[in-house]
Amino acid sequence: PQVVKSARVMKKAVAYLLPYLNAEKEEAGLATAQAKILMATVKGDVHDIGKNIVGVVLGCNGYDIIDLGVMVPADKILEAARDNDVDMIGLSGLITPSLDEMVHVAEEMQRLDFEVPLLIGGATTSGKHTAVKIAAGYEAATIHVKDASRAVGVVRELTDPELRDGIAARIRSEQEGQRQVFADAAPTDLISVEEARAGTAPIAWEAQHIPEPGFLGARVLDPVPVDEIIPYIDWTPFFSVWELRGVYPAILDDAAVGETARELFDNGQALLEKLSSQSLLTPKAVYGFFAANSDGDDILLYEDELRTLELARFHTLRQQTRRSGDRPYLALADFIAPRESGLADFLGAFVVTAGHGVAELVAGFEESNDDYNAIMTKAIADRLAEALAEKVHEQARRDCGFGRREDLDHDELIRERYRGIRPAPGYPAQPDHSEKQRVFDLLDARDVVGVELTESFAMAPAASVCGLYFNHPEARYFSLGKLGRDQVEDYAGRKGLAVEEAERWLGPNLGYKQR
Ligand code: SAH
Repeated sequence: PQVVKSARVMKKAVAYLLPYLNAEKEEAGLATAQAKILMATVKGDVHDIGKNIVGVVLGCNGYDIIDLGVMVPADKILEAARDNDVDMIGLSGLITPSLDEMVHVAEEMQRLDFEVPLLIGGATTSGKHTAVKIAAGYEAATIHVKDASRAVGVVRELTDPELRDGIAARIRSEQEGQRQVFADAAPTDLISVEEARAGTAPIAWEAQHIPEPGFLGARVLDPVPVDEIIPYIDWTPFFSVWELRGVYPAILDDAAVGETARELFDNGQALLEKLSSQSLLTPKAVYGFFAANSDGDDILLYEDELRTLELARFHTLRQQTRRSGDRPYLALADFIAPRESGLADFLGAFVVTAGHGVAELVAGFEESNDDYNAIMTKAIADRLAEALAEKVHEQARRDCGFGRREDLDHDELIRERYRGIRPAPGYPAQPDHSEKQRVFDLLDARDVVGVELTESFAMAPAASVCGLYFNHPEARYFSLGKLGRDQVEDYAGRKGLAVEEAERWLGPNLGYKQR
C-alpha cells in the first residue's frame, strides 16, 4: 500500500512536470529509453486488482506501462505489443479458464515469432502451470510472478542486457526440470466412478433434517444499503489484496506491518463511509429456493411442489481419489435428499453484487492519477460483495426456520460456523465455472441484478458472488480432486457437451492425460 500510495504523489507530480520535461528533452535531443511493458487481463476474465497493483509498482520504478485493461483477446494484446514495440508482456487472470487463455496467447506469440519475455500472474496461476503448460509453448522467457513485490526484481533482471540471457537460460532449465517431474509423476490413484458412487456421504435421510423454506422461487433485494452490509465484512482478505499477511484485527497490532495495516484500514474505512453516506454503490441480490431431489450425481429442480415437471438440473462431480478405510467419496448431490427417499427437499441459489457504480468511481480516480483509491474502491467493493453473500445467506437460513435459532458472534459468522453451506461454481467442490449459467438462468440474474457472465463464466461486474445453498446439517465443503476419464465422459453426457468441451472446463482436475 505504501508504494501504491506514494506512486500517487509521484504520478500527480510527473503529470504536472511532464510538459516541461518533454520540452527540455526535445531541446537537448534526448530520447526516453525506459523499458515498455504491456499488461492485460486475458479474454473472459474481469479481475484486475493484482494487475493494477503490479502496474503501479512497475510504473514507479521507471517502467513505461501500457495497460490494455480486462477481457483482452490474444490478437489485441499482440497487435498492441507490435504497435508499441514493447519489451515485455504481462498477462493476468484469476479464474481457471484464464489459464487456457494464457496458454493460447503464448502459442500465438510463438507462432508470430515474438521474442519478448512473457510474465504470468494472478490467483490461479502457478510456477508449475507456467512451466508445464505456458512456457512449453513459447521459446522466449516465460516467467511466473508470484506477487507485485517480486515483479520489479524480475523485470529488472530481464531488461538488463548483462543479466538477461543468463536469467532466461536458468529459468528455461528450471522449467525443463519441472516438466520432467510432471511427466514422470505417478498418476493419481483413482477408483472408477461406479465404485465412487457406491461410497456416497453416509446420510440417514429423515424429514426432520429437511427444513421447508418460507417461500419458493426467487426474491430480489434491490438496493441493499451499504451500511446494512458493513457489519458482515470479513476484513482479513482486504489486507491480503494489498499483500499484507495476517488476520484482522490482530494485523493492526502486528509488529512488522501493523502501522501500514492501520493506515490502510483507516483509508478503507474512510472510502467505505463515503460510499455509504453518498450512496455511490447500489448493491443488489437475488436468492431463492426450489423444490429439489438428487438424481444420482445430478440435482433435479422441479417446477413446483408437485414435483412432476423438471425446471432445471445441476450437475455435480464426485471425488474419485482412492481414500483409506471407508471414507466417503463426496459429491454435492449427496446433500440433497435422493428422489428414491420420497422426501421433499429444496435447493437454494443466489447471485449478489456490489459492483454497480464501481466503474464510474474508478474512472474518476484514474482520471485524477489516483490509482490508490481506484484499487481501494475495487478492493472494498469485493469485500461488500462477499459480505452481502454472508448477509443474504443469513436471511436464507432464517427463511428456512433453523437460522432463527442461531446465536453467532461476528467472528463465528465470518468463519461460517452455522448450519449449511453455499458452494460456488468454480470452487473446489464444483470446479466447473460453466455451472454458473444455470444459477443465473434460474434466478434471472442478468435482468434482475444486472450481472453478466463472460465467455469464461467470470461474473461482470467483478464484485459479484454466486452459489447454491445446501441446508442439510451434514452438508460440508470438500475438494473434488482429480477425475477419471470415465466420470468426465459421463459428466459430458449428462451436460450434453462434447468430452473435449467438458475437459476444457475441468482442465486442472483431469487425473489423466487428454487424448
Ligand atoms: N468471508 C470470506 C468468504 C469467501 S471464501 C470473504 O469475505 O472473502 C468462502 C466461500 O468460498 C464460501 O462461502 C463458499 O461460497 C466458497 N467455498 C469455500 N470452499 C469451497 C469449496 N470447497 N467448494 C465450493 N465453494 C467453496
